[in-house]
Amino acid sequence: MSFNGEKAIVVFSGGQDSTTCLLWALKQFDEVFTVTFDYGQRHRKEIEQAEAIAEELNVSHRVLDMSLLNQLAPNALTREDIEIEESEDGPPSTFVEGRNHLFFSFAAVLGRQLGARHIITGVCETDFSGYPDCRDSFVKSLNVTLNLAMDADFVIHTPLMWLDKKETWQLADELSGLEFIRTRTLTCYNGIVGDGCGKCPACVLRCRGLEQYLEEKEQS
Ligand SMILES: [Zn+2]
Repeated sequence: MSFNGEKAIVVFSGGQDSTTCLLWALKQFDEVFTVTFDYGQRHRKEIEQAEAIAEELNVSHRVLDMSLLNQLAPNALTREDIEIEESEDGPPSTFVEGRNHLFFSFAAVLGRQLGARHIITGVCETDFSGYPDCRDSFVKSLNVTLNLAMDADFVIHTPLMWLDKKETWQLADELSGLEFIRTRTLTCYNGIVGDGCGKCPACVLRCRGLEQYLEEKEQS
């Protein structure tokens, strides 16, 4: 699959998933832009890391101010005084309701200005952690809505939608980016780049997937 002469915009956080999507996009499209949303993340490091990765890969990077999100939905990612918790029922405390809905819509407006009709996001239904706007049905529905809203022909790509963490590592490897993703991206809730703190829920998921992938690779 390749889209000759076409431009794409990647919704980019500097984490494992969106960086894998960025590597994927760089293989498919002639020109790739990245956009990061600044919503008062607990760690400024996240935005700095996104900037650093974009620079290293030589892609254009924009940061959009979405601080209003913090006003709308105070949560554990942005507020120091709320602990990150995994909950049995319902979304975790990191949940910002409707966040992806807003992000993708803003990415589309920016994409339109940049002449990029392809929008790429690392959302995933397999490791679904209670975010309804990560689901495939939502993304497809929004794609139609955006096209109607702007009389456009956007295509939202979700290369990770049906992959688990192990398969996401495999994709990074197939894109010749395993080491890059492993050492440069920031997924850890404690703001540690690369393998992270190893203890927070994001690190546990990431490390488990990597171990599984490397184990399988060794056996094959
Ligand atoms: Zn961590």
